Amino acid sequence: MQRALSVSRMTGNSSTFPDWYQAIVREAELAEVSPTRGAMIIRPWGYGVWERIQQTLDRRIKETGHENCYFPLFIPLSFFAKEAEHVEGFAKEMAVVTHHRLKQVDGKLAPDPDARLEEPLIVRPTSETIIGDAFSRWIKSHRDLPVLINQWANVVRWEMRTRLFLRTSEFLWQEGHTAHATAEEGREETLKMLEVYREFSETVLAMPVVAGEKPENERFPGADKTYSIEAMMQDGKALQAGTSHDLGTHFAEAQNIRFQNSAGELVHCHTTSWGVSTRLIGGVIMTHGDDDGLRLPPAIAPRQVVIVPMLRDKPEDAEVLAAGEALVKVMGQVIALGEPVRALLDVKAQKSAEKRWNWVRRGAPVIIELGPRDVAGGTISFMRRDRLRDGDKVTSQSMSRADFLAGLPALLAEIQQGLYDEAKARLDANIRTDIASFDEMAAYFGAAAADDEDATAFRGWVRAPWARPTGEELEAIEQKLKALRLTLRNAPMDQPATFGPCLFTGRPGVEEILIGRAY
Ligand code: AMP
Repeated sequence: MQRALSVSRMTGNSSTFPDWYQAIVREAELAEVSPTRGAMIIRPWGYGVWERIQQTLDRRIKETGHENCYFPLFIPLSFFAKEAEHVEGFAKEMAVVTHHRLKQVDGKLAPDPDARLEEPLIVRPTSETIIGDAFSRWIKSHRDLPVLINQWANVVRWEMRTRLFLRTSEFLWQEGHTAHATAEEGREETLKMLEVYREFSETVLAMPVVAGEKPENERFPGADKTYSIEAMMQDGKALQAGTSHDLGTHFAEAQNIRFQNSAGELVHCHTTSWGVSTRLIGGVIMTHGDDDGLRLPPAIAPRQVVIVPMLRDKPEDAEVLAAGEALVKVMGQVIALGEPVRALLDVKAQKSAEKRWNWVRRGAPVIIELGPRDVAGGTISFMRRDRLRDGDKVTSQSMSRADFLAGLPALLAEIQQGLYDEAKARLDANIRTDIASFDEMAAYFGAAAADDEDATAFRGWVRAPWARPTGEELEAIEQKLKALRLTLRNAPMDQPATFGPCLFTGRPGVEEILIGRAY
């Protein structure tokens, strides 16, 4: 049987989930590796998905009162020296600019020794330091607060093991940065944006997540508290899909961000930061992809409906193309999921079957095949990408043009919801809450640990009570988990009223935490 993708995600001898992931990224023309180490080239279809993510999330960021702005790509080295934990956390992955001119040295182009920068510049790995510096100048009085800003930008973190979208040395993201008068307001902001990410992820990406607090050892360098949304991929692994940090007064103290309160005293601000990146596209692939390629939720599909004209090098081709163009126009006037439908007539000089499989691979939600008979009869034949599941043959439906157009908003909404429901069922079914001891957990995950790194054995997550140990005790637990290739993910926001004993220490539990393998 014909498949659109060259690699299957779970079956076959050498075909494994990571190979499948790479095949989708490549064959759906989302991105490719670049000549620059660890950095990717995002191709138009992949960038189109990112633009949809930007548009839909940007609206939410603005609706919650934030404004966009832009800060420099290069940050003076000395800015990082101010917050000790922060610099320690990022020092290992910084790209440093040291010269401002090239010169021929011994016949080779090299940095000009006479053009060394007095102070090296860091290519931003994140912008707390330079934005905090601006905050210290912008904020004088309680009347200047809160400051609520966001920037869409690229950042560089010199990651050792890179994977397209999931972990790249340069990535695109948004970073929100805010300053507040009180600890309470800072906490509220941190949790508000966590909730924005959860809602965005679930309704726009159709990717169910668990929102929760990261354990101490997984905190952002310099944060009081870090919260995350964690999504379960189809191989059972967790993907940290976004983070929101309550920075307390750490950065304000390091950078002298102070204001005069209503009593006339000079006090430190409470700051927050939060971000999501192009990693989300990796999450969408591993949540919704199948053995035929990507399945895109309509809300982020650059094209929601693609028309493949059935051309036969005959005079009626012109009619088919004209009808296709007209149909794209009419669909552009239909509102679905709150926006005009994004449709495309594929006029590339390829065979129709080839075009159809291209769009299957890329995950266009609805694919119409328009032939002379449809044009003459006023009918639409289409297939739903979400229903073309592994092993099914291409099943297309046919209906009158009027019925199709009238039903289009409901159709796209149904596809969006269906993808979410499928992923939600998988998440809910694969969090084990019945594991009572570390050994039992080791046995559960152990079988897979013995296999190679890319084993296909599916293990979801474990949710268990713990005593929230800290310091060295937590470090020891981290090491024990590491031997099983496990990590602590987060302590979900919704917690029960009472807890059993801690899975790690046997002491009374104080919250439940998620444990799993992760990207
Ligand atoms: P952070 O500033 O470390 O909290 O990062 C914010 C978000 O960016 C994380 O939650 C990840 O989803 C994402 N992220 C972090 N590092 C990378 C990377 N190397 N490539 C892609 N996304 C990343």
